[in-house]
Amino acid sequence: MASPHRNDFALIVIGSGISGLFVALEARHLGPVLVLTKGSIDDCNTRWAQGGIAAAVGPLDSPGQHLADTISAGAGLVNEEAARVLCYEAPARIHDLVTYGVAFDSLDGEVALGREAAHGRSRVLHAGGDRTGAEIETALSAAAMDPSITILDHTLATRLLVTHGRVTGVEAVALQSGATETYAAPNVVLATGGAGQLYSHTTNPDVATGDGIALAFDAGAEIADIEFYQFHPTALRVPGVPTFLISEAVRGEGATLRNARGEAFMRRYHPLGDLAPRDIVARAIVAEMRADGAESVSLDCTGLQSVDLAARFPAIFAFCIEAGIDMRRDPIPVSPAAHYLMGGVRTDIHGRTTLPGLYACGEVACTGVHGANRLASNSLMETVVFGKRVVEHIATGEGGSATHHPDAASVRGPDTAAPAHRDLQHLMWEGAGMERTGEGMQNALATIARWPAPEPSRTRAAFERRQMTVMASLMLHAALARTESRGAHFRSDYPAADDANWRKQQVFVREA
Ligand SMILES: Cc1cc2nc3c(=O)[nH]c(=O)nc-3n(C[C@H](O)[C@H](O)[C@H](O)COP(=O)(O)OP(=O)(O)OC[C@H]3O[C@@H](n4cnc5c(N)ncnc54)[C@H](O)[C@@H]3O)c2cc1C
Repeated sequence: MASPHRNDFALIVIGSGISGLFVALEARHLGPVLVLTKGSIDDCNTRWAQGGIAAAVGPLDSPGQHLADTISAGAGLVNEEAARVLCYEAPARIHDLVTYGVAFDSLDGEVALGREAAHGRSRVLHAGGDRTGAEIETALSAAAMDPSITILDHTLATRLLVTHGRVTGVEAVALQSGATETYAAPNVVLATGGAGQLYSHTTNPDVATGDGIALAFDAGAEIADIEFYQFHPTALRVPGVPTFLISEAVRGEGATLRNARGEAFMRRYHPLGDLAPRDIVARAIVAEMRADGAESVSLDCTGLQSVDLAARFPAIFAFCIEAGIDMRRDPIPVSPAAHYLMGGVRTDIHGRTTLPGLYACGEVACTGVHGANRLASNSLMETVVFGKRVVEHIATGEGGSATHHPDAASVRGPDTAAPAHRDLQHLMWEGAGMERTGEGMQNALATIARWPAPEPSRTRAAFERRQMTVMASLMLHAALARTESRGAHFRSDYPAADDANWRKQQVFVREA
């Protein structure tokens, strides 16, 4: 591919998951768009999404009910203005995705709607059964083969360029040649996804190292809700087999979690049983595993006679067969794994960050719609609802930025970096995982302080270790300060919610 002229772009998008590609497609009328992505185009979280995308499109549903479920899942911290935008604009964004070629599954001529935990209605659209993310990524990638979109793959964004307080471009390394380039544009959109690689067990692919959050933090943008990390309760746990998500939709179809003694235990923990909110299910599983001295619990689909499991969940079914498990007959061994980051670069409802010229959308952003805990399948929808708004706002030419949070705390980033990915993953799994304690987090921060200075090397691995160390440090600071339990943040030394002191967001900004 011919090298693009470095200053010819109306917009630079970092990331090629659903957020990045959707923004690029929507922005074509603004002028040439550059997409930088550090792996191949489909190397992203999006591709692995299974369950689907939430929108109140069913006859018995309404955006108001979707909003009520979203607020309830978020444990008191949902930004209601942003959540209203999400739920009321969701049906129109489904229409956009269909226009871009996403074929959602149907049943008897009507769109098929799945049910997932903490949704009061069946409102989760899916595609290719449980290959929703792959179907979306394939459709958007094909649509993005457009003369007005330049995609540079294997290109690592390493720095946001800031001139007089405004983001004016991106420094990036072409990973195959090692060459460093700078690209200028009046607007930059961060669409770099999540950070599951911070943890030893994760459903996220290896690109999910939180780069965008560290890039934005270094550039001076505000970071919010970073202590809230969602662990998915049910990832396949078979020794020697990679971690693989077993979607909540399997429980939505009626599968039951059982402990090592065969007991269906979830009703003991929550009236919604197996469809209780994710954090409750994840901690219940950990408690049962601990009580039984087991490495996993079982997800039992064997009673689901009316569901054709191979047709409804083709990806899960195939993966399980590869691992020697026939889910029609065998219970599936599962345990929790790091899955989704609720917090991120703080934005307003137009996707503006607190830095002029810098927008963020998708998992890297914190719009506040998830509060302390994400409602299943709201994340894919958030990417397109706010992706659309980013482009609409850029088109107005108003510019500006999100207003600064009145209580943003200045913090110093670490001046060290993890010696190896696995050191950091182990540190975070033990120190800031599903159950946290003040002592554990203090120890983790002390370990980070003892690590060596970041390597000057421009390799992707060295860069990611530094970005992940920044993320880990921010997450530990935030989780340590929050002396309560709320949503996905659980502290065994402060097991109750403290609404009087903590029904509020924590926001950090780099010390000037
Ligand atoms: C296994 C799994 C199942 C899921 N199931 C669902 C579901 O059913 N429903 C739902 O709503 N959500 C689901 N999610 C969450 C959802 O998939 C993600 O939140 C969403 O896809 C994020 O999209 P994104 O575009 O923001 O990020 P991603 O799709 O992760 O894309 C990020 C992009 O940024 C690139 N990038 C990162 N850093 C850099 C850098 N420094 N330089 C250049 N490029 C960079 C990456 O290479 C990638 O292309 C699931 C997630 C996983 C992992």
